[in-house]
Amino acid sequence: MFIEKFKVESPNVKYSEDEIESVYNYETTELVHENRNGSYQWIVKPKTVKYEFKTNTHVPKLGVMLVGWGGNNGSTLTGGVIANREGISWATKDKIQQANYFGSLTQASAIRVGSYQGEEIYAPFKSLLPMVNPDDIVFGGWDISKMNLADAMARAKVFDIDLQKQLRPYMESMVPLPGIYDQDFIAANQEARADNVIKGTKKEQIQQIIKDIKEFKEQNKVDRVVVLWTANTERYSNVVVGLNDTMENLMASVDKNESEISPSTLFAIACVMENVPFINGSPQNTFVPGLIDLAISRNSLIGGDDFKSGQTKMKSVLVDFLVGAGIKPTSIVSYNHLGNNDGMNLSAPQTFRSKEISKSNVVDDMVNSNAILYEPGEHPDHVVVIKYVPYVGDSKRAMDEYTSEIFMGGKNTIVLHNTCEDSLLAAPIILDLVLLAELSTRIQFKSEAEGKFHSFHPVATILSYLTKAPLVPPGTPVVNALSKQRAMLENIMRACVGLAPENNMILEYK
Ligand code: NAD
Repeated sequence: MFIEKFKVESPNVKYSEDEIESVYNYETTELVHENRNGSYQWIVKPKTVKYEFKTNTHVPKLGVMLVGWGGNNGSTLTGGVIANREGISWATKDKIQQANYFGSLTQASAIRVGSYQGEEIYAPFKSLLPMVNPDDIVFGGWDISKMNLADAMARAKVFDIDLQKQLRPYMESMVPLPGIYDQDFIAANQEARADNVIKGTKKEQIQQIIKDIKEFKEQNKVDRVVVLWTANTERYSNVVVGLNDTMENLMASVDKNESEISPSTLFAIACVMENVPFINGSPQNTFVPGLIDLAISRNSLIGGDDFKSGQTKMKSVLVDFLVGAGIKPTSIVSYNHLGNNDGMNLSAPQTFRSKEISKSNVVDDMVNSNAILYEPGEHPDHVVVIKYVPYVGDSKRAMDEYTSEIFMGGKNTIVLHNTCEDSLLAAPIILDLVLLAELSTRIQFKSEAEGKFHSFHPVATILSYLTKAPLVPPGTPVVNALSKQRAMLENIMRACVGLAPENNMILEYK
């Protein structure tokens, strides 16, 4: 059975006008490695740590500013939200299609609430905590191309033509603000597009972005803004001592107009200065150490990197399943071909390299979790190839071959062929990223050892389900396995309303 909403009644949770307060007993373990009776032993001690959570229930009017607004993802997301808000339906060759939010974790997935008279009860994921309704988001942003969003949607060739016709009147007047263009960071083949750029020094460019955010906030009367980079993939920035390794050095380098500070890092600096959450949906290292340092010191949310939309999502499910089943993946080979502007930009070796890096580490945590299968340091062969094939447009092809060793030296090969409009996968992920980033800024918590409530660490690992190469604070484990990432997010949200984590034991029926 599916219920739309529910309220928790417990001594551990209190709903007031402004917030939900909960007390949560975090069941964890403490590990000790010590010499007992002449030999070293691992001792595991279960322990319970009491946490308190406070969630502000006032949902703000949210503005979302996209860097790369006129790209395939930007125009697809904007059109998709308008279509939902306006209740648009359109004719396809198969049927009359209604707008929906399929592919969005927050809008289209469910959580299990419990059992009632022998039946499992589910509710929408978004019913766990008060969240912004995506229909109410005001969109804006920047692009180095000044094409309006209606034309950009046509250029993207993602939506059915009947839908495009209906959306056009809403999108014609939406024109991106000038972006920060630096041809050294994206492929040379993007030059023809760059007719809408901010002039001036890097410091002036940052000031312009700050001004843009302030004006957008004022003009649209929004309470909160989230900025997300869905612009072209940049090459990696060199991380150099004295240049961008610390907050002070990064800011000094901006003052000196150093060429190695990328446009995405400049956007991120502007957001951190304004305390506006900034999310990076592309693979490059926007978050150089100096920027992470800056975000931590100003307690301003940053999250990334690179949307986990298709091939990598499958990988972080399949390898988790294989290794979890005691099967040893030994070779993973991924081919992609795509014909959109992203594909064209990735056809340059430097930008491809950023994608190759972000796609490469996604199986590490799963491989490292099982020393029965892998010797220390052993790793499956893992190769990623991306080719630009204009004809397929946004409809990306991803072909993967997984070879594994099974029982008694046997080999098992699984081949996947995935065809899908890339932007239709990415747009709902962008939505989840901005909605969850906003929500996470309304949550405060403390453990029993801490005197004061505080927000989550500014490096937002809570978003890692949605990113290919989750950015984590220094010294924090990276989790790539999709089911663990989802459970982490759901269970933290459950804790905020005093619910235990989903443990799947269903003891009631055993
Ligand atoms: P796109 O090329 O269609 O859109 C990018 C837009 O950014 C373009 O309109 C371009 O003019 C603009 N742009 C480039 N540099 C800019 C700058 N410095 N400032 C402002 N605007 C700038 O690409 P897309 O398909 O929308 O993808 C966007 C990004 O998302 C790419 O980096 C891609 O790798 C990443 N990504 C996409 C997916 C997916 O499934 N679609 C998955 C993971 C990551």
